[in-house]
Amino acid sequence: MTVSRAALLQEVLTAFQSTPTVEAYIHAEDSFIDGCTDGETITINPVPAAVETILHELIHCLHPRWSEAYVTRRAQSTLAHMGDEQARKLYRAYQRRKRVTRAVKLYCRPR
Ligand SMILES: [Zn+2]
Repeated sequence: MTVSRAALLQEVLTAFQSTPTVEAYIHAEDSFIDGCTDGETITINPVPAAVETILHELIHCLHPRWSEAYVTRRAQSTLAHMGDEQARKLYRAYQRRKRVTRAVKLYCRPR
């Protein structure tokens, strides 16, 4: 059965209203996991996405001439070689140091 993108989005948004949702770090043997489910509850791990984005943006700052694709590959590779504890430590530092503001206009363009 094919479900249109719009119909699937509506299904997901409706399900989200009644699905127990947990935020937790997910331990896995050899990779970072963004989320998982037991079929009833969803568990979201914000660490991998946030840490990869931190790495990506800092690599842009450090190497402004590198292409978007190369920065993406290097950030992904760097994350893949970080251990759980190092990733969690960077995420905790981000949580302490971040400054939350209202939405900002895009001030940089991917190259
Ligand atoms: Zn980028």
